Amino acid sequence: EVRVRFAPSPTGYLHIGGLRTALYNYLFARHNNGKFVLRIEDTDRTRYVEGAIENLIEALNWAGIEYDEGVFLEDGKIVQRGPYGPYIQSERLDIYKKYVDELIEKGHAYYCFCSKERLDKVREEQKIKGLIPKYDGFCRNLSIEEAKKRIANGEEYVVRLKLPHNKDIQFHDLVRGDIVINTDDMDDQVLLKSDGYPTYHLAVVVDDHLMKITHIIRGEEWLPSTPKHVYLYEVFGWEKPTYVHLPTVLNKDRKKLSKRHGDVAVEDFRAKGYLPEGLVNYLALVGWSPESNEEIFDMEGLIKEFSFDRVAKTGGIFDKDKLDWVNAHHIRRYDLDKLTKLAIPYLIEAGYIDEKFAEENFDWLKILVDTVREGVATVAEIVDKVDIFFKDEVQLESDEALEVLRQEQVPTLLNAIEEELATIDELDEEYARGFMKKIQKKTGIKGKNLFMPVRIALTGNTHGPELVNILYLLGKQGILDRISYTKE
Ligand code: GLU
Repeated sequence: EVRVRFAPSPTGYLHIGGLRTALYNYLFARHNNGKFVLRIEDTDRTRYVEGAIENLIEALNWAGIEYDEGVFLEDGKIVQRGPYGPYIQSERLDIYKKYVDELIEKGHAYYCFCSKERLDKVREEQKIKGLIPKYDGFCRNLSIEEAKKRIANGEEYVVRLKLPHNKDIQFHDLVRGDIVINTDDMDDQVLLKSDGYPTYHLAVVVDDHLMKITHIIRGEEWLPSTPKHVYLYEVFGWEKPTYVHLPTVLNKDRKKLSKRHGDVAVEDFRAKGYLPEGLVNYLALVGWSPESNEEIFDMEGLIKEFSFDRVAKTGGIFDKDKLDWVNAHHIRRYDLDKLTKLAIPYLIEAGYIDEKFAEENFDWLKILVDTVREGVATVAEIVDKVDIFFKDEVQLESDEALEVLRQEQVPTLLNAIEEELATIDELDEEYARGFMKKIQKKTGIKGKNLFMPVRIALTGNTHGPELVNILYLLGKQGILDRISYTKE
């Protein structure tokens, strides 16, 4: 059975690179009818941020990425479910301790008492000599008895991995191929820190093993750490998982996407009005390409198509224009009720409507949203397209528009509209649909001479949404107001 995991550190927000890692794990798990675990890697206490776990889970939920085991939110509370818990590393300290002791017993790890000052000095000297800084092995040969005495005396210590000299560590990566690294180019990694917490390297190996993870799918920034992990599997005598390192998500300058250069948090994209379906669809394409030329997918389609054969070796470029293009597709075909609900907060924030209005005029809002959704990239952009329905003054877009309103048939046309509207209380949709035919009959004006002046009188623009929708959305009074405004 395929078992994969997403193992974020709760540093405050979910980076979209992280969302893509979670997504690929999810797609691979579902494609193979496997299980997907969410584990929280919080052993670096200096980076702990309040509320970060909740934030991570909410971002995954929003994106529609479901998992089977691990850490969940229930009524705003963190709960854990699954047979291999706990799934929060800070709750597993005794487990790590046990495996550290085992490594020390077997001679694969050792206590180290070197002070920060000493380590800094060693590193400085190595740098001056042009060497890659690494631990010089000062404590490697302390006996366990001697070390235990020093610990009993209250000395601070860490536990380090005792790498053998000149040994090739090999592993296979599904994206990167075969990789060989010699232990002489590796460091005696700290496994247990002086605060009693394990480092990432120890915890990740122990947990992936105990949680029966079969495929480790993560960002390529972890590739250099993988030989250490592989070595640990070897000395523990555990079966190694399959590794899959994903290309980093880069910006257009081929640099890592970072907070300093704009939006990187999933919640930023959510706030900007990207649909989860749009963001997920686009992110799937950053680093992976489907076999067909198709680029628009829903989650089911992605699950069906996804495979690591088509994951690129080198960085995927995050292209905001492409994201907008993909998101626009999803907006066009989105469920209208859902889209309208998403648009309402933006319309309220823009001051066009309030909550009461939204409640009482939901059907009207649906038509409004449907009328302008064509050609918007985000839900937020809907706001930019609706001003003609909320402002009474008509702002002429160009001299060309003004020219049209000066045509000789226009006064007749506008009078006919006023007369026709005087016969009704309010336009319903059906009446709006037949309205222009009525005016045509009444005046004998047709085609461009009919439609263009009406459009411009009502919206100020020569182009825009369906005239029928405009009529309906403006309603009787809205139309009359704009006609009298134009006449002046
Ligand atoms: N905790 C690591 C992170 O924050 C997980 C890396 C891994 O998947 O092994 O990315």
